[in-house]
Amino acid sequence: MNTINDGTRRARKPHRCDECHRIITLGQQYYYQTNVDGSDIWTHRSCIECRRHVALQWDLLDHDADNYMPLRELVLEYEHDGVWPAEVVEGIRTRWGTI
Ligand SMILES: [Zn+2]
Repeated sequence: MNTINDGTRRARKPHRCDECHRIITLGQQYYYQTNVDGSDIWTHRSCIECRRHVALQWDLLDHDADNYMPLRELVLEYEHDGVWPAEVVEGIRTRWGTI
């Protein structure tokens, strides 16, 4: 897999965060990453909160795209191991206060 473009933009339409599944609403900033693998091309989108915590916890995450898990699954699966700060667990549970 190769990343051909990434950065932040403002949503011109609603998107779902691929990490926590919250809705990124019109006008909100989000992080995008366009990837290519053979003939497959896709854009991964995440809300700013997820992006920040993915970056902070980068060493805990599996970088192999074949084993990719969204932040939501990673946090909830390892919630009781004390790996994740309490505010991240709470943030993921509430989709950063949106539910
Ligand atoms: Zn998110």
